[in-house]
Amino acid sequence: MNQNAKNRTPKNQVSKELMHVGEMASGVQLTVPVYRMKALPNSNEEKNPSVYIQANMHGAEVQGNAVIFQLLELLKDIKINSDITLVPYANPVGCNHKNGEYTLGRFDPITGVNWNRMYYFDESVIEPFAKQHIDSEDSIVEANFKQLLLNEIDQQLNHNIYGLTTGKRIAFQLQRLAHHADIVLDLHTGPISSKHLYCPEYCKKSANYFDIPHTIFIPNSFDGALDESIFCPWWTLQETFKKLGKEIDISQGIINKESFTVELGSQEQIDLKVAYEDALSILSYLHHKKVIEAETPEQFLPQTMLRYACYLKDYKSFYSPMGGMIDYLAEFGKPLPAGEPLARILRMDNYGDGEAIHNISLEQTVIPILHFASASVNQGTELYKVFSNYFILPELDSKI
Ligand SMILES: [Zn+2]
Repeated sequence: MNQNAKNRTPKNQVSKELMHVGEMASGVQLTVPVYRMKALPNSNEEKNPSVYIQANMHGAEVQGNAVIFQLLELLKDIKINSDITLVPYANPVGCNHKNGEYTLGRFDPITGVNWNRMYYFDESVIEPFAKQHIDSEDSIVEANFKQLLLNEIDQQLNHNIYGLTTGKRIAFQLQRLAHHADIVLDLHTGPISSKHLYCPEYCKKSANYFDIPHTIFIPNSFDGALDESIFCPWWTLQETFKKLGKEIDISQGIINKESFTVELGSQEQIDLKVAYEDALSILSYLHHKKVIEAETPEQFLPQTMLRYACYLKDYKSFYSPMGGMIDYLAEFGKPLPAGEPLARILRMDNYGDGEAIHNISLEQTVIPILHFASASVNQGTELYKVFSNYFILPELDSKI
């Protein structure tokens, strides 16, 4: 992959530092590698958005590390217009949280809290800021609000007399890096899963630039995830300004803030070839946002594909109606007509004097997106996640 790159002088240098995010009982330092590419000073007036990409916040969701590897390899030889920061192994505790042959790493083992629900946003700071900046230019709003968000994190990290949990200390330090950037991509995977994208509703068009066939449009509601902790403050600021009679656009021009959770497929897997394709998909989006320059008009164009989407309220979890052993039947990514089997459940305890096989189907046409990683489930296990009330994304203007 990218063999020629080895023989040429790279356009961009990569710097590396280790960020200290905590320490263990024995004094061992918890560190996260931070790779940076700096854009050369730009002669044009345009301010291009800077980028932050992290991977592996959930321990078993390792494919994002391979995507960051491929991005670094590709980006070395691409003209970049703005700074790009890449952070693999974002959560050193989750990453190393093994049990037998499996990686756990979805929940902090001490508190039980999901590692991706620990980020910070205090909505109460928005209204006073908006009132204070009602007559400010966009560039002042952008700079001052960003500084406010960074100060908020600094306050939590460094001036919190009662301290922080291990998880929040990691999360807030990552969030501080993310707040410095305009575009944020948090790379995850499902358990056994198709590729899908969480995209805020205010920048729906951006979903067309990722080579990802399923998108979930999410509202302005903060539940502790990184993507939300980045876009909710700006989105809420936009809405608050609107109520006060001031219009700002947070997805283009000077402000230009977008953040996504990119679900790359299944957990516990590294596939460098697929990672290369995923890196190209991200470059297509970054090219659209003018972060990188193409050498030919065709370079970095998104693939033509059927892109399905649904709103978050229609992204449904299906919980197992009974305990048992699951034969997962439904294919990912294809509409499954109502009444067609989603899975069948084997109950050998019933063999001979009851039903050993139970077929499971839904009364609505859905698109299965992911399923539970194990075949043995308790009653109430989240078996599948599916798109209901889905639709096809309109294609972009062909002159992209
Ligand atoms: Zn995840």
